[in-house]
Amino acid sequence: MLLKEADWTEVVQAANTVRNAKLPGKRVGYTVYRIINYTNVCSVNCSFCSFARKAGERGTYVLSLEQIRRKAEDAKRLGADQIFLQGGVNEDLPIEYYTEILQMLTQELGMSVRGFSPVELVRIANAHKLTLVELLNILKEAGLSSVPGAGAEILSDRIRKELSPRKLSAREWRDTLAVCQKNGLPGSANIVIGTKETPEDIIAHLELVRGLQDETGGVKSFVAWTFQPQTHDFPIRHVTPMEYLKLLGLSRLYLDNIRHIEVSVLGMGKQIGELGLSSGADDINSIVLEENVLESHGIRGIDEAESFIRGAGFIPYRRDLNFSGEH
Ligand code: SF4
Repeated sequence: MLLKEADWTEVVQAANTVRNAKLPGKRVGYTVYRIINYTNVCSVNCSFCSFARKAGERGTYVLSLEQIRRKAEDAKRLGADQIFLQGGVNEDLPIEYYTEILQMLTQELGMSVRGFSPVELVRIANAHKLTLVELLNILKEAGLSSVPGAGAEILSDRIRKELSPRKLSAREWRDTLAVCQKNGLPGSANIVIGTKETPEDIIAHLELVRGLQDETGGVKSFVAWTFQPQTHDFPIRHVTPMEYLKLLGLSRLYLDNIRHIEVSVLGMGKQIGELGLSSGADDINSIVLEENVLESHGIRGIDEAESFIRGAGFIPYRRDLNFSGEH
C-alpha cells in the first residue's frame, strides 16, 4: 500500500524520523575500496550484463597475481584499505588462484577483502567438489572477511527466469548468503530496480532480505541501486528521483532489523545522494576506485566524500566494509 498509494514525501519523512531516532548524531558513513574484477569469463550469461565473455571468446581475461597486486598497491596509495574481488563465474580457475590472491592482499598488503557473489561461490564449490562450508573455510583461512549480497537484482523468480535464468533462484541466493553469514562472513544486501518489477516483487525482495537478517544478523547494510544501460537484450526504464527516494525510505521503514541504509551516490548522482541522506539513508555507499560496470556520478576521493557529506549537513565518518568498530 505504501509503495502503490502513499505520497513519497510522507514515506521519506517517516523514514528520516526513524533514521534519526535509531542513529542520532547526524553521522554519515563512507568507505573506500577498489573493485578488482579478476576475470570476465563467465558461464552464467545474464541478459543485462555487458561485462562477461564466454570462455574462448575474444576479449576474455584472467588477472594474474602480479596484476592484482599492482592494482591493490595503486589503491593503497590512493587511500583504500579494502578490496572488493568480483569476477565472472569462471569454473576453470584452481582453488589456489583464489587463496594466493587472498593471502597476498591480506597478509602481504594488510588489506581486507570482501568478495565473491553467491553464484560465484556455489559454482566454484561445485566445480571443485567441495561443500559450500568447505569452500568458505578455505577462503576465510586465506583472508576473506566478507561476502557481498551481489547478484540479488530483484529476488523474484518470475523476473529472474527472464533476466538471468542461469543465476541462483531467489531462495538459493538467500540460503547461500545465510550459510556465509552463519560461518563468520557478514556482508550487505541490495536491490536493483528499473526493469519489469512490480511493487509486489519489491516487497517480496525486502521480505526475503528481512527474513535473512532475522536468521543471521549478518546483513550489515542495505543499498538500493537502479539498472544501468548495458545491453540491448534487457528492458530498463527510467527510475524517477521520487521513486528511488520512496524506495529508500521504505527500505528504512521495512528493514527495521538492518542498521545501515545506503544511498547509491555512484548510481544516482550527488543531488539524489544528498536528498537520500534526509530520506532514511545514513551512508553514501562507497568511494569506488575502479568500477567496470559504472563510470559515472561517483565520488572519487576521501576529501570529496567528506566535503559532500558536510555540504549535505552531516558529519562524515569512515567505516570498513563490515561496519566493524563504527561507534
Ligand atoms: S552479471 Fe555476473 S553472473 Fe551475470 S553474466 Fe555478468 S558476470 Fe556473469
